[in-house]
Amino acid sequence: MECSNPGCCIECGKQVAELPTTVEYHDQEVHLFNPTVCTPCLVALCETHSTECVNCGKPIPPFTLVGVLKADDGEKQFVHMNTSCLTVGSAFHGYWGKGKLHNFVEIEAC
Ligand SMILES: [Zn+2]
Ligand SMILES: [Zn+2]
Repeated sequence: MECSNPGCCIECGKQVAELPTTVEYHDQEVHLFNPTVCTPCLVALCETHSTECVNCGKPIPPFTLVGVLKADDGEKQFVHMNTSCLTVGSAFHGYWGKGKLHNFVEIEAC
C-alpha cells in the first residue's frame, strides 16, 4: 500500500510517531529524518543495503555519509565519514542511500 502521508514509513506505510528514526547497527547509530522509515524497516534496510567500509571492514549502514575512494579497477569503494573510522586522502564524499550513492560530490583531491 502506497501511503501519501509524509509521516508514514516508505517501506511498510505505517505511521511513524517520531523522527528521526534511530537504530544502532554494528555499534553505529543511524539517524534518519528523510525518507521516513519506521524502526523495524530501517533495521531491515541496514541489513539489506549496507556496504562494506574498505578502511575498517565494518558495514556502512544506509542513509549515512560516506567517503568514496576509487579502486584501481575503477570500482568505487566506500569508507565511513565518522570519527571512529578516520580516513585520509579521500577525494570524494557522498551519501550512502538505499543501496546506492546519493549526492555524490567530487571535492578537491589532496
Ligand atoms: Zn516500516
Ligand atoms: Zn570504517
